[in-house]
Amino acid sequence: MTNAISLEEAASFRERLRARSRTLRAEIHDTLMRTDAEQFARIAGEVRDAEEASVANLLVDVNMAEITRDVEELRDIEGALKRIASGAYGICVKCGEPISRARLEAYPTAKRCFPCQRRYEQSRGSTAPPSL
Ligand SMILES: [Zn+2]
Repeated sequence: MTNAISLEEAASFRERLRARSRTLRAEIHDTLMRTDAEQFARIAGEVRDAEEASVANLLVDVNMAEITRDVEELRDIEGALKRIASGAYGICVKCGEPISRARLEAYPTAKRCFPCQRRYEQSRGSTAPPSL
């Protein structure tokens, strides 16, 4: 299997994803600290200090609408970082074809190529227009 992107590009995407992960974790931390629940304060500290690979699992029990979307994005970022580490980044998980650079630039966490993403969204009944 050949990598869809160069090592330099992978490093650049990795930095972007890590920066986004830090931002999301800071947001989640602040949100948790605003709540009164004691266990959330403990989790908040762990979220801030943990390696990005394990943050989402800390938050499975935190059922707050405010942070659910952030946690989902964190999960996507963790998946993308794992694909970068394994050399699978930029390859569609569905059909194995390279994902276009434009799509990766716009959606660094993309794991499907555009045609597969469109089919996936159609199969889920999404009415949102497909992105790139
Ligand atoms: Zn595909």
